[in-house]
Amino acid sequence: MIIDTHCHFDRFNDPETFIAGEERKGNIIIGMTNLPSHFEIGYSHLKGFKHIRLALGFHPLLADDSINELSLFDKLVNLTSYIGEIGLDFSREGYRSKLRQLEVLSHILSILKGKNKIISVHSRRAERELLDLLIKFEIKNVIFHWYSGPVGLIQEIASQGYYFSVNEAMTISENGKKILKFIPRDRMLTETDAPYNDRCNISNVLSALKCSEGDIKNNFYSLVNKLNQ
Ligand SMILES: [Zn+2]
Repeated sequence: MIIDTHCHFDRFNDPETFIAGEERKGNIIIGMTNLPSHFEIGYSHLKGFKHIRLALGFHPLLADDSINELSLFDKLVNLTSYIGEIGLDFSREGYRSKLRQLEVLSHILSILKGKNKIISVHSRRAERELLDLLIKFEIKNVIFHWYSGPVGLIQEIASQGYYFSVNEAMTISENGKKILKFIPRDRMLTETDAPYNDRCNISNVLSALKCSEGDIKNNFYSLVNKLNQ
């Protein structure tokens, strides 16, 4: 069983064929959305699936242009246990909209505070700021997706009970390989970030990490079980 905790299948050319195939194989796929309106469109298509889930998201790089969708996030939040992609991006691409991103994320975290969800976060060049906000709002069950930040922060993230989702690109790049040495084995999950990532073969991630599908499954279920606590 393959587990993909961060996949943008709503951006695929033919999402329906993809999810039907994955469901048949028994793979678990958590579909990210970049905006609440995307979740709203996709939601009804996922009803009846056992292994495929759709997460409600608000991508940080869309915060500036789509702030008018914030109230839609509030309206839809109780329809799913999965949230993503949300977060911060202070890279060159996102730096201009830093304040707007902080405004959107703070609102979202205030809505999520006290709710039991599994949350996939984008943290590029804003790892410290994001971690501080997650702690401030007492957010649980967070998965740091495609972590590329300082290795010095990994232990602190793990000490909050948070997880990391690893894709094939991370097992190839020098920075990714360095980061993987610091992530505790029991906090590792797998992801593709498809279609935004062309190195996204999960079997190759498992070989590179020298771990089995069962190891990742155990980690994933220890996280999912927290939804019932
Ligand atoms: Zn993504």
